[in-house]
Amino acid sequence: MNMTAVQTRALAEICQTFFPAEEGWPSSSEMGVPEALAAALPDPALTGRSEPLLQLLDLWNSRLHSLFTVARLVPFSGLPHDARTRMLLDWADSALATRRGAFQALRKAVGYLYVMLPGKNGAPSPVWSKFGFPGPLGAQRNGASRPLRVTIPDRDTDLTADVCVIGSGAGGGTAAAVLAAAGKDVIVLEAGGYYDDADFDGAELAGFTRLYLEQGFAATANHSVGLLAGECVGGGTVVNYCTSFRTPDEIRREWAATGIPWFASEEYSRSLDAVCARLSVNRDYNRVSAREEVMRRGLTSLGWHCDAMPRNVIGCDQGQVCGYCGYGCPIGAKQSTAKTFLLDAQNSGARILAETRAARVRIDAGAVTAVEARTKSGHRVTVRCKAAVVACGAIHTPALLLRSGLRNEHIGKHLHLHPVSNVCGVFDQEIRPWEGTMQAIYSDQHTRIDGNYGVKYETTSLQPVIAAAVLPWRTPSQYRALLGKLPHTSAIGVLARDRDSGSVKVDRTGWPVTQYALSKFDAAHIRAGFIGAARILEAAGARLIYSPHAKFCSYQPGVRGTLDSFTWEMDAAGWGAGQVALFSFHIMGTARLGASAASSVTNPHGECWEARNLHVMDGSSFPSASGVNPMISIAAIAHRNAGVLAAKS
Ligand SMILES: Cc1cc2nc3c(=O)[nH]c(=O)nc-3n(C[C@H](O)[C@H](O)[C@H](O)COP(=O)(O)OP(=O)(O)OC[C@H]3O[C@@H](n4cnc5c(N)ncnc54)[C@H](O)[C@@H]3O)c2cc1C
Repeated sequence: MNMTAVQTRALAEICQTFFPAEEGWPSSSEMGVPEALAAALPDPALTGRSEPLLQLLDLWNSRLHSLFTVARLVPFSGLPHDARTRMLLDWADSALATRRGAFQALRKAVGYLYVMLPGKNGAPSPVWSKFGFPGPLGAQRNGASRPLRVTIPDRDTDLTADVCVIGSGAGGGTAAAVLAAAGKDVIVLEAGGYYDDADFDGAELAGFTRLYLEQGFAATANHSVGLLAGECVGGGTVVNYCTSFRTPDEIRREWAATGIPWFASEEYSRSLDAVCARLSVNRDYNRVSAREEVMRRGLTSLGWHCDAMPRNVIGCDQGQVCGYCGYGCPIGAKQSTAKTFLLDAQNSGARILAETRAARVRIDAGAVTAVEARTKSGHRVTVRCKAAVVACGAIHTPALLLRSGLRNEHIGKHLHLHPVSNVCGVFDQEIRPWEGTMQAIYSDQHTRIDGNYGVKYETTSLQPVIAAAVLPWRTPSQYRALLGKLPHTSAIGVLARDRDSGSVKVDRTGWPVTQYALSKFDAAHIRAGFIGAARILEAAGARLIYSPHAKFCSYQPGVRGTLDSFTWEMDAAGWGAGQVALFSFHIMGTARLGASAASSVTNPHGECWEARNLHVMDGSSFPSASGVNPMISIAAIAHRNAGVLAAKS
């Protein structure tokens, strides 16, 4: 993207302040961070959307800004390094949530690129060698054939189908298979590209760029929650961690009570059975990695709940390559929709178009008549159809409905995120937390803190970006000291079932804007979960425990501080926006099923109250947060409601 000289200079200076060259660590500029960050920013000239970072960069180098932050009438670029650091911290600790959000956006963007970019000419990064990370393992199945015949239209195209399914993830992929098996002529439109085993080399940069929504940089408008979702053929099921929980009975009862009785019925159980069978959910590949051995040890010594995770894998290696699962399974073990339901759909005659983003659903006389889309290279695609299934994930589904002219007041509301973060522990022994089975075990010890609300404990592979996501930055050397300990670090993920919610609206270009604020009720559960995670790590023998707060909150059991002092530090650091790094891997609820238009976007079968034959079948459909990792529930809802649609005409 073209930036002005002032913006380019400010960006380079900010990157250098985060990561100057010191003690053998390369600087941000040596790693090419400013250029990579500029290249990753969407160009306002092309998108029509303003880019907040550019406005920040315009202001950053002004003398007035320095005067207000570090009492010096000198632009940022003229300040000594310690004054620049203070200026960044002034934003990190600001009383204003917008400033804290801006700091967090910078910390993540600069930090991610610093640890993710390869070295010169594709050589291993000199940053990785500072903490012994081997880098990507490379493709494991070079030349493996791609099972799907995917088309990318190379000219303006008009097509006709019975049903156009928009989005190919957990919901869309499943719906396409059910509809095609019932004899419907199905076209699937997918905004992302098609990648398979031979493409998955484990590189974080390639993984995020090719497979993730907004290349992994998506976040709520105030940057308080990072949003992770798939954007590729297969959607989130290609990059997800294979955890395959059925919808718990208590959540089924809760959802049934909102006016959707089938959630509590045998019919829904059969859909859960069917998707678990097709996705090969099992507990046969649950070898516990060194990273999770820590969690198991801590849980066992506390006498807390610990169980084996149900996972949708066949032939999972459970070793070194498994840690790279979030960038696509390089050995084809993960049973994503690209390997299962989309293949079934194709075998029943469905056509799949990739790199083709639906712009709007055309509705005439109250019913769907067509879907209008554009390819990445700008070709117009129109699919005339009798019905459309919107399955773009819970951020883009409400945006598409709004762009299509729907006005139901619940569209985009009730956004649930299962806010999650890591509490980290550093151990004497080497762990190499970027390796091993992705999620082999979990704990439900604190899932019922208040009724059906509480937290789950799960772990994730600490690839450098995932580790950097929660690393507090106070000075370059403090940050690097923690990063240097990564081989000895494990983390307990604390995942909250959120009772309260945010929203998705669209800006004037029709692009989604996500708002979310952690309520006091939900923050109390995150807090309880962080304390629980610290107890697990301490019981497992951690020497240093720290939280993902913007301020550095930590203790060293038996040496410095206690769980009580850690808790006090976390409370003082705060639980508000930008004070604690939170993420969402589970985006839900923005076009919910319900009993009437007064309470929901669709009827219990997923058909929009406002338009005939316009259906929603994805994470947006949830009446509230599922409390468990949602893939199986999404697929089962799509399975059940696509069956109803198929039987209709
Ligand atoms: C890193 C990661 C790990 C996860 N781990 C787990 C796990 O272990 N277990 C679990 O249960 N869940 C997990 N999840 C969550 C799970 O993958 C998602 O909840 C699920 O995939 C969502 O399904 P969906 O159908 O709602 O949307 P998605 O699967 O996100 O699919 C939506 C698709 O629609 C496409 N799309 C969007 N807009 C348009 C448009 N306008 N036109 C055409 N196409 C469009 C997108 O590109 C995307 O491919 C994880 C998610 C992530 C990101």
